[in-house]
Amino acid sequence: MSSFFNTSIEFLKGVGPQKAALIGAELSLFTYGDLVQHYPFRYEDRTKFYKATEVTGDLPFVQIKGRITKLDTIGELRKKRLVARFSDDTGHIELVWFKGIPWVSKKLKLGVDYVVYGKPAAFGRKVNIAHPEIEVLTTQNDKAAFLQPVYHTSEKMKAKFLDSRAMSKLIRQVMVLAERHINETLPQKLTDQFSLIEKKFALWHIHFPSNTELLQKAQFRLKFEELFFIQLRLLKLKISRIDKFRGQIFNDSALLTSFYNDHLPFDLTNAQKRVIKEIYFDMKSGKQMNRLLQGDVGSGKTIVGFICMLLVVGSGSQASMMAPTEILAAQHYEGLKEYADKLGLGIAKLTGSTKTKERRIIHEGLRSGEIKILVGTHALIEDTVQFKNLGLAIIDEQHRFGVAQRAKLWNKNTSVYPHILVMTATPIPRTLAMTLYGDLDVSVIDEMPAGRKPIKTMHQYDAKRLEVFGFMKREIAKGRQIYVVYPLIEESSKLDLKDLMDGYESIARAFPENHISIVHGKMKPKDKDFEMQRFVNHETQLMVATTVIEVGVNVPNASVMVIENAERFGLAQLHQLRGRVGRGADQSYCVLMTDYKLSKEARTRIETMVKTNNGFEIADVDLKLRGPGDITGTQQSGVLDLLIADIAADSKILQIARNAASDLLDEDPELTNPENANIQRHIQSLRKTTVNWGRIS
Ligand code: ADP
Ligand code: MG
Repeated sequence: MSSFFNTSIEFLKGVGPQKAALIGAELSLFTYGDLVQHYPFRYEDRTKFYKATEVTGDLPFVQIKGRITKLDTIGELRKKRLVARFSDDTGHIELVWFKGIPWVSKKLKLGVDYVVYGKPAAFGRKVNIAHPEIEVLTTQNDKAAFLQPVYHTSEKMKAKFLDSRAMSKLIRQVMVLAERHINETLPQKLTDQFSLIEKKFALWHIHFPSNTELLQKAQFRLKFEELFFIQLRLLKLKISRIDKFRGQIFNDSALLTSFYNDHLPFDLTNAQKRVIKEIYFDMKSGKQMNRLLQGDVGSGKTIVGFICMLLVVGSGSQASMMAPTEILAAQHYEGLKEYADKLGLGIAKLTGSTKTKERRIIHEGLRSGEIKILVGTHALIEDTVQFKNLGLAIIDEQHRFGVAQRAKLWNKNTSVYPHILVMTATPIPRTLAMTLYGDLDVSVIDEMPAGRKPIKTMHQYDAKRLEVFGFMKREIAKGRQIYVVYPLIEESSKLDLKDLMDGYESIARAFPENHISIVHGKMKPKDKDFEMQRFVNHETQLMVATTVIEVGVNVPNASVMVIENAERFGLAQLHQLRGRVGRGADQSYCVLMTDYKLSKEARTRIETMVKTNNGFEIADVDLKLRGPGDITGTQQSGVLDLLIADIAADSKILQIARNAASDLLDEDPELTNPENANIQRHIQSLRKTTVNWGRIS
């Protein structure tokens, strides 16, 4: 951007150093450029004046012209209110104030022409507006042909008279000056193709729209542009990564064939086979693989990971699998060890609790190449862990790892980067995945292993606990096992532990004939494993736990999941937990226990769970309820600091923008074509001014 946009806002009329500092501190707005991009968050519709008789309680905000014909303070003490009768030539409505009565009543004059704006409400046959905006009628506001922008400000700013109106005036000042400095950022081909209005025009009308149609055009143009440049950047990253980074070539499939023919415990689903082919193709290509493997809980990602390891190990290299928790690492290790032993492959487990002596042996085995497969937690990315030749690094349940940790894995092989496979069951809506993982190749397992029965999910109020216990007993009598999960808000909270212990005691009382395992985050890994193992071995029938069992654990005979205080869990978490059952051939159940009192959102979550088993459907509801930042966690939220577009609401525009960016790069991969000069220039200016780009990769 030109230096004009870097001018400090203190040079604007009516600002000065003190107010500039305040605006900077409160809203992080420092320059003309910042103000231009401080978009309104909503608009007041001032395109029409209503007549008093037209105003009803179910209208949204309305604007009326008229006069105050009567003004009274009525009621006593805390019920005191100021009531004005506001009349035009058709009739009247009431205006009401509960606060600031002395000040308002002094300001209002009988017989003066006013413009009133507010949200009407009906009380019996009367209609009133509480705390309306009221201004003296002027030739300006009489025109009634505009949408009033509403800007974010803060209490501190309002105290210095920097309210939304004042911000609007400052922005108007800048926009008038900025006019000749605003460059078009898109090539004409795109603006023609998608009927986009000019950038300059769009910026003006996002702040000062003269009608709804223009506002919509301005919004579409700016959202498109924002999403287009993000996608362009991601797609460029992907192209340059594929071009730049060499990958080891793995193509010896003898080991794999032996496993396939002699040891594979079940037939792979078609989706699993397809995904394995995609990964093989990458690993034979000579380029480094960076692939995301998405598949709903229980879709069988682990075996896919293992089979890919075999190609690597068979070609004389090493492979690792990193999991987010000790329990999960242990479980992967147990599972993979069984296969590895049959094939005579060296395999080891490395976690935070591995003893120093054993650790030393493992380090040695990795350096010598004797250990072919390493399974572990993030302990395996520590600097002391060195491989002879790491060829494939698998990360399970990616959402728990940061981008930085992904990068550390890259450096585990000093001569050639290892191939990277990220496996996630977090159902991420496609649009969000496109942005978060837009630089990765994506494979999807969209099919469950044969013979699985869909899990039946039920909602029960706490009062029905005895019936639920009865149901659990009948399932145990059939030989099934049961999880009972308690919420955990903070890993350290004593209260949660007490909830869990109370729960444990009530279960122990209700099921005197059964054995019960208990697992929670405060336990030593060794004790946790012991308890887990008892459940796996079917020595216990019930597993009382906190959400530590959320990811990955696999006990096919466990067919009932009871979730206590289900209203306290998020949708993604409920879905993950439910995924712990339904892994065997028996009918599985998930029981969501809640209090009678439920917030609207909690009710939506529970109803969604009861209605569907489809992770993507659940993810879409989740995205609508929570917004994208929460879903991805703080680690990646920087990517989604969007100025105007909304990943959830604007998924259509996102898709259009992604396609447009992809087509453009097909035609002009280096963006050197003169007709794309606008794009080049804008990317350069973004590099200088935006911090977000770096965080995307
Ligand atoms: P996730 O995708 O959630 O990680 P897992 O890899 O843990 O799922 O697999 C869930 C269960 O399904 C495991 O018991 C696994 O052995 C089994 N499984 C995986 N693929 C198949 C298949 N094609 N047929 C039958 N069972 C399978
Ligand atoms: Mg898994």
